[in-house]
Amino acid sequence: MSVKRLLTKIKRYNPDSNVEIIIDAYDFARKAHRGVKRKSGEPYIFHPFEVAKILVEYKMDDYSIAAGMLHDVVEDTSYDLGTISARFGPTVSLLVDGLTKIASKHFNSKTQARAENFRKLILSTAKDPRVIIIKLADRLHNMQTIYYINNEKKQVQIASETLEIYAPIAHRLGMNLIKVELENRSFQILNGAKFYEIASKLRFLYPEREKILMQITDRLKREFKKQKVKTRMKYRTKHYYSIYKKLQKGKEFGEIYDLFGIRIITENYEDCYRVLGVINKYFTVISGRYKDFIIKPKPNGYQSIHTTIIYENRYIEFQIRTEKMDRIAERGIAAHWNYKELSQQKPIDKFWGEFKHVLEWAMDEGDFQKFLRYLKLEFIEDRIYVSTPAGDVKELPVRATIIDFAYYVHTELGNHCIGGKVNGKMSSIDTQLQNGDIVEVVTSENQKPKIDWLEFVVTSRARSSIKKWIKENETEFVVRGKAMFDETIKAFEEKYHQKLMVSDIKSQLTNWGLKDMENLYEDIGTGVFTKNRMLEYLRQAFVQRKKQKKKTSKKPAADDYDDNLISKVIVEGIDSSQLRFAKCCMPVEGDEIVGFVTYNHKISIHKKSCKTIQRYIKNDERIVYAYWDRDKLVKKISVEFEIRAEDRYGIKNDILKKLVKINQEFGDLEIKKRKGGMIFAKINLLISNINAIEDVVNAISGIEGILEVKPKSKFI
Ligand code: MN
Repeated sequence: MSVKRLLTKIKRYNPDSNVEIIIDAYDFARKAHRGVKRKSGEPYIFHPFEVAKILVEYKMDDYSIAAGMLHDVVEDTSYDLGTISARFGPTVSLLVDGLTKIASKHFNSKTQARAENFRKLILSTAKDPRVIIIKLADRLHNMQTIYYINNEKKQVQIASETLEIYAPIAHRLGMNLIKVELENRSFQILNGAKFYEIASKLRFLYPEREKILMQITDRLKREFKKQKVKTRMKYRTKHYYSIYKKLQKGKEFGEIYDLFGIRIITENYEDCYRVLGVINKYFTVISGRYKDFIIKPKPNGYQSIHTTIIYENRYIEFQIRTEKMDRIAERGIAAHWNYKELSQQKPIDKFWGEFKHVLEWAMDEGDFQKFLRYLKLEFIEDRIYVSTPAGDVKELPVRATIIDFAYYVHTELGNHCIGGKVNGKMSSIDTQLQNGDIVEVVTSENQKPKIDWLEFVVTSRARSSIKKWIKENETEFVVRGKAMFDETIKAFEEKYHQKLMVSDIKSQLTNWGLKDMENLYEDIGTGVFTKNRMLEYLRQAFVQRKKQKKKTSKKPAADDYDDNLISKVIVEGIDSSQLRFAKCCMPVEGDEIVGFVTYNHKISIHKKSCKTIQRYIKNDERIVYAYWDRDKLVKKISVEFEIRAEDRYGIKNDILKKLVKINQEFGDLEIKKRKGGMIFAKINLLISNINAIEDVVNAISGIEGILEVKPKSKFI
């Protein structure tokens, strides 16, 4: 698309557009990036231009589009912000500044750079929401072109960051179109096998389902015509990543209610309910699946009626909404930012205010990993609805406790909370609430917020309030913390006969998720950072080196294999000294793994299939993303397996399903001959180690009708 066509498109939704600034921004960016090529081989300007195109799709204003064109100029070329400001004015300059990373020379580590840059992005976003909208467009185009990056590790890193940070933000801002694409593209990179499995299953089901959807819409159309209700209907399929999440929660494919659905878009509010009436009259509606998000919009502004019917033994979900609701459902905050609607900013104020609060609370965490966890909890997790005895309904994340609820009702109520009556029954403050509970908070004059509460509260609002109270009321914490710190250092020096300087400690602060020394004293003083934990941190940071030097002259101990292997595991933002293999499942190279945050704040690495952590995986609690550093892994080799089996219907499918289940990568299953009711087949598998061969043989042998499985090539 040429610049000219872009301008025509803009004029269509914004006739008053100041095209000069956009043309000028394009020319300026083109010159600034001249001579530089992207990984794809295209001139660099393609990228900012594509970002601007995405912003036009979202019908954004001139400043945003210009800033989209210019977003990489200050970071990547010799031009500075002053030049941008002088030429394009303060608004564009503010937006570009928000999108410019701080030069890496200012940081000691990548983790610190990542955290600080993200902080900067959020602070700029708080000044002008358009910053994050442009950033999302930027990220979207980077994901669209990620395959040009010829480094799998880098791809994985970008994809997991997208999934952890940007998709949740897009979700919270209601920018569903971007969210879905970001999730699907990240998912494809992070778990290609599952991605294609889901894709092919959907493709398989679709023709049959389409027939059903047509029958239903035909029926509805007739009825709508009679009642003179004008609608637009489209079929929709649940997106791959959200299907994956449902499957992760233990659901079967067939149990997912909203796999296929019909979206009905009406001309006005009243018609939504007329449409609902027709559906209720002519189809079998499943009780408990009806949700009215028109009366009670989601926190991201989403409005729609959801209801599910059962038709020919299939679940079909309806989403009913008006044109305007549909625009907001797909574009979220960007729809509010539409030029035409810019004048009426009232609704966006409230919406934006809440978003900012959540960010600020989460920011309060200091530790970047924690920040991400809270972001996810607040933005992505399912919500429950809990009410006061007076019927005032509060929306909370799942696993919210009485104390979380109390803080949602009122800060003072939280500060003095000693428990609550849940549906009339007295319960302790850490009781987790369920959807529909009626909660009466019980208070006492003498109660004060406690440090321990931070262990079980899940909302950042409660955390932030508790911390704030403690900070304000107990100023001596820093002083006390400093004294305890001095004692700990003394204890360390005596125990390990090693002197520590303040500069040594300072060099470790970011690794420990702390900002500065005062921050450290405070954490010690408030008990967040216990003396023992600090001793352990110090030991890891300063004794390890010494030990390793000694070790080289000794015989290798059993632990050395672990040490060596654990260095191949990556958990973003965590030093490998904090990682351990779990003793329960002992992952080996190439296993699908996850990290589990233990009580002493280390991360233990489990097999994804490990029984002990399934409960946590299910709730996505204390789980962090972990993966193997592929550069350091042994290359997998292709091994051919021969299979002899009964020639029964479906056996081929059973074998492939089993291989998918044990996460084994495979090629085609080829049936070489059929004879006497038997088949002889071969399949190539990518094998990483000797254990995997055994696993494959065991897994396939367990299938009904299998007579023999053997690896053909010799391994090692
Ligand atoms: Mn960019």
